[in-house]
Amino acid sequence: MLDKLEVKSGEGSIPFNRACFQGKELVYIARTIDNGHIMGDGPFSKKCEAFLENAVGVRKALLTTSCTDALEMAALLLDIKPGDEVILPSFNFVSGANAFVLRGARPVFADIRRDTLNLNEHQLESLIGKRTRAILLVHYAGVACEMDTIMGIAAAHEIPVIEDNAHGLFGKYRGKALGSFGALATQSFHETKNITSGEGGALLINDGRYLERAEIIREKGTNRSRFFRGQVDKYTWVDIGSSYLPSDMIAAFLFAQLECAERIQKTRKYIWEHYHATLGDWAAASGVRLPVVPPECDQAYHMFYMLMPDLTSRQALIDHLKKQGIGAVFHYLPLHLSEMGSRFGGKPGDCPVTEDISDRLVRLPFYNELSVEDLNRVIAAIKELKFGQQPGSIAS
Ligand SMILES: *Cc1c(COP(=O)(O)O)cnc(C)c1O
Repeated sequence: MLDKLEVKSGEGSIPFNRACFQGKELVYIARTIDNGHIMGDGPFSKKCEAFLENAVGVRKALLTTSCTDALEMAALLLDIKPGDEVILPSFNFVSGANAFVLRGARPVFADIRRDTLNLNEHQLESLIGKRTRAILLVHYAGVACEMDTIMGIAAAHEIPVIEDNAHGLFGKYRGKALGSFGALATQSFHETKNITSGEGGALLINDGRYLERAEIIREKGTNRSRFFRGQVDKYTWVDIGSSYLPSDMIAAFLFAQLECAERIQKTRKYIWEHYHATLGDWAAASGVRLPVVPPECDQAYHMFYMLMPDLTSRQALIDHLKKQGIGAVFHYLPLHLSEMGSRFGGKPGDCPVTEDISDRLVRLPFYNELSVEDLNRVIAAIKELKFGQQPGSIAS
C-alpha cells in the first residue's frame, strides 16, 4: 500500500502541497479524444458522478468546475434573495460566504468549537432569525460537525443545511458519510484536496426537490439535460443559470484519481497517524495541541494541523521549517474580521475562539506522495524546537 511513499528520497525541499498523479490520468484523457466527446456530461463525467453517488450515498451528484461553483449553485437553488441570511462559521474559506453574498444575502458568522474547530452547535440556535435561509457547514479537516444536534435544530426551524464537504469526502459521522446529511453538499477537487483534477468540484443533492432545477441551473438555465434524455423535443431557456459543468477531459482526469481513492485514503491515514503518534510527546511538553477527532467521527484525513501556544511560536515554527526547505502554512483569517466581513458588521470579539485559533494554527506538509523519509525529516525539524516555560519563548 505504501509503495508510493517509499520511492521518493529525502533530498531537497518538502513543499506544503504537491500535485500527485495516480498513473491513468493521461490514458483516460486520450480516451475522451478517441470517444470524440470532450464537452461536459460525457462518459467520464457519468462515471465520476456514479462513483460519488455510490461513495457518499446521495441521490444525485453533478460535476462542477469548482466547489465555489457548486456553492453558487446551492445559493441559486435555495432562491436566496437580498436581505436573506446565511449562518456559517467565520473560520472558513471565502467561497461559501461569497456564494450567498453574490445573491444579496448577509452572512451571519458563527464561532467554532475548541476541539474540532467546527461550527459551535451550542451557539447555532441563538443565531437563527426570521431571515435565516440556510446553515452552511464545513467539516473542518474532514472531521464531522456535531450533526445530530445541528440537523435537529435545522429541522425544528425548517432551515436547509448545506455541507461544504471540500475537506470531508469519505469521512463519516456515526457511520454515515459526510455530504449525505444536508439538503445539498459540495465537493472540491482543487489541487490541494485529497482527490484532484487541478480545479474541479461537485454538487451533491440529497433533497429531491432540487434535482430537476440543479440540472437546469448548471446548463445555462436551459432544459438541455432533459432534451438529451429525450424527455423534451427541444431545449430552451427556462430559468436563471450559468455554465457550471466541466469538460469530460477534466472528468477523465478526475476518474483516474477517484478509482484510486482507497489507496489514496490509506496513504493519507498513514501520514496523519505517523504525525500524530510521533509528535505526541513533543506536543505535550511544548504546550502544542494536536488535532482532536471525536469517537463518533471517521475523519477524511484531509490535513494535519497543530495549535501552537501563540502567534509568536507559530511564526517561529514556520520560519524554522522554511530555513530547512519545509513548507508549513496557516489559515484561515477569520471571515468576520476581513475587509468584506467588517462591511457586514463583523468586529473583534464576535467569534473569540475563531480569533484565537486563527493566530495559532499551522498546517504541516501533507500530500499523497509524501515519503516516509520526508515525513520523518519534517518531524525531526519540528522537534528541534524546544519551548521555554513561558509559551512562545523558543530556545532552539
Ligand atoms: C478548497 C475549499 C473550497 C473551494 O474549493 P474550489 O474547488 O477551489 O472552489 C471551498 N471550501 C472549503 C472549505 C475549501 O477547503
